[in-house]
Formats: sequence, C-alpha cells, structure tokens
Amino acid sequence: MSGCDNAIEYVYQYIDDELTFTRKERIKWHLRRCGDCIGAFEFEESLKLRIAAGGKTEPPAELFDTLRALIEQERNTGASDC
Ligand SMILES: [Zn+2]
Repeated sequence: MSGCDNAIEYVYQYIDDELTFTRKERIKWHLRRCGDCIGAFEFEESLKLRIAAGGKTEPPAELFDTLRALIEQERNTGASDC
C-alpha cells in the first residue's frame, strides 16, 4: 500500500481526530512530502470547518467528486514512490 492510499483512506478519521497517535504521525509525515495529499486534506479540513460553521452535517456532492477525482489521479500516476 502506498503512502497516498493510506493517507486518502484515513482522511476523515484524521480530520475528526479519531486515529491513533502512531497512525496520525505517519500520515502527517506523508503529508509533509506529498503535495497531492496535502491538497486533499486541506480541502477536507476547510470543508469540515465550513460545515461546522454552517451547522450542517451533510457533505455536498462535490466533495465526493473531488475525492473520486483525486483517487483516480493517484491511480493514473502510479504514485507508489510518493
Ligand atoms: Zn500522497
């Protein structure tokens, strides 16, 4: 499993602070080196803040489109050396 797969898989738990310390540190380490993933995480985080501020719990549909596009992108570029 590449670092990107791992980071994307745990994006929600990471942002919700539901991960173990070790896993969080591993993802943080990956984000420091990976511009693609940090972009995805920043997007999710800002979205979460916006939802929290608006008092809504339902994520907008474009969130899933963006995530799907990112995952596709990872697959197409074969970012195993990431
Ligand atoms: Zn990555």
